[in-house]
Amino acid sequence: MKIEFYRHSINEEDIKRVNSVLRSIFITTGESVKTFENEFGGYLGAKQVIGVTSCTAALHLCLLAWGIGEGDEVITTPMSFCATSNSVLHAGAKPVFADAEDSTGNIDAGLIEKKVTKRTKAIMPVHLYGQMCDMKKIKRIADRHGLVVIEDAAHCIEGVREGIKVGQLGDAACFSFYATKNIASGEGGAVSTNDPRKADLLRMLRLHGIDKSAADRYTKKYKHWDMSVLGWKYNMDNIHGALLIGQLRRIESLWKRRDEIYRKYEDAFCLRDGIKLMQTVPDSKHARHLFTIRVAKGKRDQILSALQDKGIGVAVNYRAIHLLKFYRENFGYKRGDFPVAEAIGDETISLPLYPSLKEKEQKYVIETVLNEARS
Ligand SMILES: *Cc1c(COP(=O)(O)O)cnc(C)c1O
Repeated sequence: MKIEFYRHSINEEDIKRVNSVLRSIFITTGESVKTFENEFGGYLGAKQVIGVTSCTAALHLCLLAWGIGEGDEVITTPMSFCATSNSVLHAGAKPVFADAEDSTGNIDAGLIEKKVTKRTKAIMPVHLYGQMCDMKKIKRIADRHGLVVIEDAAHCIEGVREGIKVGQLGDAACFSFYATKNIASGEGGAVSTNDPRKADLLRMLRLHGIDKSAADRYTKKYKHWDMSVLGWKYNMDNIHGALLIGQLRRIESLWKRRDEIYRKYEDAFCLRDGIKLMQTVPDSKHARHLFTIRVAKGKRDQILSALQDKGIGVAVNYRAIHLLKFYRENFGYKRGDFPVAEAIGDETISLPLYPSLKEKEQKYVIETVLNEARS
C-alpha cells in the first residue's frame, strides 16, 4: 500500500473557477481575491482580510505595518516552522524564544513574561498543529507591556478556544495556503485584522507601497499612482484567489472529515506503550491540521524510516528552530537551551491526515504504527 502524507482537496468546481479566471482578461489581484478576502473575513469574524503570496509574507508585512524592525525583539516559539522566526529576521528584528509546553507543543504562556525586555515590541504565538495557544493569557501579558500580538495561524484557520476565534485577541493573524495546509493553493497566504488603518497600510505594503492596484488602474480611468512607503511584492493573484474560494466554502466539511480521522487515531494510540499524544485543550476547537505521535527519542528516526519503507508518508513537524544550523551559528544556541521544544523535535512523527484518507488506509497506518512502536 502507498499512502501519501498529504493529498489536497481541490475538486472540479475549483478547477472550473480557476479556468474562468484563466479565460478572463484579468489574472492578477482583482475580483476573485476580493471575493476570497470578503468570505474569509466572514468565516473568521474579522473586519479585514488581505490576501498575500504566503504566510511568511503575511508575518513579515504585519511586523512592518506595526513598525517593528531594527533593534526590536519579538517573543516567539522555537517549536514551529522556521518561517515564523525568519519573518522576524526579514523585518530586521530579533526573535527571542520562549520554550514550548509539553502537552500541546504551543509556546508556554507562563514563560513569556520573563523574556520581556525594553526592546520587546511583539509576541508571535503559533497555534501548533491546529491547537490554539492560550490567547487570553498572552493578550493579558501583551497589554501589561504594551506589546503587539501577531498570530501565526498557518495551522489553525478553524480554531476556537474559550469562545475566541483565531485572530480575535491578536492585532493580526497570518494564514498559509501552502500545498499541504488545510486549504491549499500551492502557495498563498493572508492577514486578518480588525484595524482598518493597518489593513489599508497592509494593502499598500503588499504591492510595493503604491497607492493604486492594477485593478484600480484597469477598472477605472487611468490615474497616476504614487509610492509613499517602501513595500514588497506579496499580492495574491486572481488565479490563487479562485482556487481558494470553493475550498473555503467547504472548510467545515473538510474539517469534520479530518476530525473523525484524528479521533480514530487518538482512540487507537492513546494508552499504548511507547506512544505519547498531544492533548486537545478542553473548551477548544482544534483545527486538526496535523496528527502527531511522540515516540522514544532513540527510536524516532528508525520508526520514521520503517513507516516509509511500508509505504506510509510521514513528516517531522518540527525539529526545534534554535538547533537549525543558521540559528546555532548566528545566535549561539545550543542543545539544552529550550528542552521541551528539543524533546518534541526529537520524538515527533506526523501521520497522514486529510479528508480523502480512506478507511482501509487509516487502518493500515494504525496497524503499522502500533507494530513499529512495539518492536
Ligand atoms: C507553513 C507554515 C508557515 C509558512 O507558510 P508559507 O505560506 O509557506 O509561507 C509559517 N508558520 C507555520 C507554523 C507553518 O506551518
